[in-house]
Amino acid sequence: MKFQPKASHFINGEYVEDTSGAPIDVIYPATGEVIARLHSATPEIVEQALNSAKAAQSAWAAMSGTERGRVLRRAADIMRDRNRDLSIIETHDTGKPLQETLVADATSGADALEYFGGLAASLTGEHIPLAGGDFVYTIREALGVCVGIGAWNYPTQIACWKGAPALACGNTMVFKPSETTPLSALQVAEILIEAGAPKGIYNVIQGYGDVGASLVTDPRVAKVSLTGSVPTGRKVYAAAADGMKHVTMELGGKSPMIVFDDADIENAVSGAILGNFYSSGQVCSNGTRVFVQKGIKDAFLARLSERLATAKIGDPMDEEVNFGPMVSENQMNIALGYIEKGKAEGARLVYGGERVEGDGFYMQPTVFADVTDEMTIAREEIFGPVMSVLDFETEEEVLARANETEFGLAAGVFTNDLTRAHRIVAGFEAGTCYINTYNLAPVEAPFGGSKMSGVGRENSKLAINHFSEMKTVYVSMNDVEAPY
Ligand code: NDP
Repeated sequence: MKFQPKASHFINGEYVEDTSGAPIDVIYPATGEVIARLHSATPEIVEQALNSAKAAQSAWAAMSGTERGRVLRRAADIMRDRNRDLSIIETHDTGKPLQETLVADATSGADALEYFGGLAASLTGEHIPLAGGDFVYTIREALGVCVGIGAWNYPTQIACWKGAPALACGNTMVFKPSETTPLSALQVAEILIEAGAPKGIYNVIQGYGDVGASLVTDPRVAKVSLTGSVPTGRKVYAAAADGMKHVTMELGGKSPMIVFDDADIENAVSGAILGNFYSSGQVCSNGTRVFVQKGIKDAFLARLSERLATAKIGDPMDEEVNFGPMVSENQMNIALGYIEKGKAEGARLVYGGERVEGDGFYMQPTVFADVTDEMTIAREEIFGPVMSVLDFETEEEVLARANETEFGLAAGVFTNDLTRAHRIVAGFEAGTCYINTYNLAPVEAPFGGSKMSGVGRENSKLAINHFSEMKTVYVSMNDVEAPY
């Protein structure tokens, strides 16, 4: 098979196989063909991976930050050199067009390795002077063995967004990709070894939810970082709480994007396209509730339809194609089901709405107008290319409606009124906000959600706090006073 890796798992610096685990067939979403067969981790494989991460951790943490950082930065260089090959694998794993994977996956993973590699040498504690010459110093310490569990939409990026800050702080990791997209995390593990990483610091094991669950409850594990849906987040958070483990939860969303009638309409349409149809809509932070002020609603919808008609749907390996298939037949059927609900509940279909016939899991980019707040398509995360356009009249009204959701991942506003833009952003109940753009996630900026969309932040200097903890050392310069 064309994309068959050497083995299913990567443990202690080597590929490892155990064919007694349940088979995982990797399907190319553009054709439905099986491109690799892997096996879910057996309890023995889980054990090997955790032992390997545990055994490697203290020596890795004892290296200087400069040395750890050098490994990560070398890995970033290797990833960039191999961007095309890695992007081809990512496209086959996810179905995302090569045009996208060339710029958004291994490159974004390399950014994380480079950024956290650069920070590693400057991770320090502080000195706190006290009365009488006493003082406290703090030591920033690694947490230990961290578990990363990924979703299927950005497999390389997720493997690196979790791995890079964990390793920079001196932790080791066992990473479990989604079984839908198991290929690229193995590449990341291999590249780290090539970059000079000690064996065992980054291990990858495959598996379904049960494998993830067994990692989360293991007493050797100090921290769990999950990218996934809210229902899975709830389960993983609860399981981690039992062992009082640290968690980062990057979960789903139903984010609002507000377009005021003074906005640059071309930019607002571009933002709505990026925030709904990039990666065929399979992006957690998508602005799927697009509130358009009544004065420009018709112009907005007309221009949106014109631009969508120029989307090139087709073979994701053709670099001209900018709209690929859904990751799986199941995900396509979920999105098509929501389209039926939208129609049944009275939303007006203004663009798309159909499956694209053929072997692959293709569907059209879809826009509903006249959507109301209580409709299912306006409340539930679809994770597909389905945009809901809602009307509004006033600023006060739209902000309240934008926040009327259990989610709080992202939110955006398009307006040319400077003070209004900042007022709106101040009122958004969301972790990641945008003014006059949408969905950019540079590694330098914190990324994550409020409310049900998650706990903690990925990327930026903040991620360091989620992968390390402070030890406080009180130093007395005086005699000890005791009452008797
Ligand atoms: P899931 O929540 O279904 O799965 C996420 C991962 O968790 C998978 O690897 C899954 O394994 C694993 N898993 C499932 N059950 C358990 C369990 N009980 N214990 C431990 N691990 C478990 O999400 P999807 O893969 O379907 O991804 C889509 C979701 O991810 C969307 O809701 C989306 O919003 C969210 N997402 C959030 C992002 C963010 O940064 N906020 C970014 C990207 C996506 P398996 O697949 O084998 O079941």
